[in-house]
Amino acid sequence: MVFLPITEGIVVNEILKHYVNGRLTDGTSGRFSDAFNPATGEVKSRVPLASTDEVRKAVEAAKAAFPEWSAATPLRRARILHKFKELVEAHTRELAALVTDEHGKTLSDATGEVIRGIEVVEFACGGPHLLKGEVSENVGTNVDSHSLRQPLGVVAGITPFNFPVMVPMWMFPVAIACGNTFILKPSERDPSASLLLAELFGEAGLPDGVFNVVHGDKEAVDSLLTHPDVQAVSFVGSTPIARYVYATGAQNGKRVQALGGAKNHMLIMPDADMERTVDALVGAAYGSAGQRCMAISVAVAVTDAVGDHLVESIARRLAHMRVGPGRDPESHMGPLVTGEHRERVKGYVDRGVEEGAALVVDGRNFKSKEEPNGFYLGPTLFDNVQPHMRIYREEIFGPVLGIVRVQDYREGVDLINAHEFGNGTAIFTRDGDSARAFGTEIQAGMVGVNVPIPVPMAFHSFGGWKNSLFGDHHMHGPEGVRFYTKLKTITTRWPTGIRAGADFVMPTMD
Ligand code: NAD
Repeated sequence: MVFLPITEGIVVNEILKHYVNGRLTDGTSGRFSDAFNPATGEVKSRVPLASTDEVRKAVEAAKAAFPEWSAATPLRRARILHKFKELVEAHTRELAALVTDEHGKTLSDATGEVIRGIEVVEFACGGPHLLKGEVSENVGTNVDSHSLRQPLGVVAGITPFNFPVMVPMWMFPVAIACGNTFILKPSERDPSASLLLAELFGEAGLPDGVFNVVHGDKEAVDSLLTHPDVQAVSFVGSTPIARYVYATGAQNGKRVQALGGAKNHMLIMPDADMERTVDALVGAAYGSAGQRCMAISVAVAVTDAVGDHLVESIARRLAHMRVGPGRDPESHMGPLVTGEHRERVKGYVDRGVEEGAALVVDGRNFKSKEEPNGFYLGPTLFDNVQPHMRIYREEIFGPVLGIVRVQDYREGVDLINAHEFGNGTAIFTRDGDSARAFGTEIQAGMVGVNVPIPVPMAFHSFGGWKNSLFGDHHMHGPEGVRFYTKLKTITTRWPTGIRAGADFVMPTMD
């Protein structure tokens, strides 16, 4: 097994620090949680959990930095983002290694995550263009109107464990390019990469206080949601917490976008190219051990013949899948993020068996020979999953794929549309009519046609429908710019010399 050398630097200290006002600072709450290396099962670092007082200090630093940062020209901000992009590119390997060591995903997968994050920085480098307003000349005689998009102030991001680099980077590059100052509360399960990102941003010339990282749990989140100086909150995580964050933030007068959980279906038509479809399905279901919000967790087989083919060919591929440490280049799939999460996923497999689904491949007894204490689970496949079963209704977030059999396209679309989640979905077919109808009819925010994981590029926007998103804006792309700015429209009369006398009726222009 060839392992990369352990990353050097501040971020692998045993006790992590916060990053506030351009400096690493010790936690003072006295509360900590453990971040594990899931490949070995060992505790990798102790994560300080911020108190309300510590969050308050971060908000104060971000608030103090706002006047100067928001007054900086968009071009100056973009130049710092350019430099940041170069530094992140130069440190891609270290960032990916930090992700692998705390999340468990393979290094190649973690590298892909960093690249997707960099793409958002590239988008945000276009800030001067993105912030251009609109102008109307002569809306009335000698009257012009123009609109501006101005930053909100201090904004916060609260992020999940499954993309510790990419999801924070969906948020802060766009927010900062728009002139806001930012507080990131990363997942306490894999927070090291965010510290390296903060350091790199500082090295790129970002003024102190513009980007801050505060670790924590519910106390830190609640402190951000209720602080009067936090103007907006971006959240990504599970649906119950997304719903809570949306409601609490809105009650406290904040703009909120809260992305939640998912159950992504792939509809497989009988005319699909089956070999390519199965390859796409296996990668989308088991990559990152199924811990992706866009993972395919339900294969909807149109006809029993398709169902039989899927069962046979997926099982054949799973027999050759290598489960092992993410740093081992031979591994296709790493461990789950924590032992607790592995037990939760195993519990779902038990429940699927009790509920009567057909367990075709059982990953529950998988043991890694090299790392017996790692949080591994083998790939698992169910056939004959029924819509009333909990393994169908609920998000499992592990390497568990369920096949549901339907008899035609309509039954498949109705099934998908009846689900509470609407994050991503895909159709695999060679038929243009079905593909087009699917794009129109399906109730989900991100749709693939022969693309298993249709994650929009940085210059489009990412977000689901139904219980996969609470709020009005998707993330990054044009929606991100709208979320992190407020619109102002200025109406101007030149020359000013014309006197018409006081007018008490509703102004009209002609
Ligand atoms: P999570 O909801 O447990 O945690 C997300 C964040 O919320 C973390 O920062 C965590 O510290 C905080 N948090 C946890 N419990 C809280 C509480 N009671 N009160 C306030 N804050 C709390 O999610 P996770 O397990 O880290 O991530 C996996 C989930 O994220 C999955 O449901 C997945 O689908 C979802 N996800 C969704 C998307 C999307 O785009 N829709 C993207 C990535 C992940």
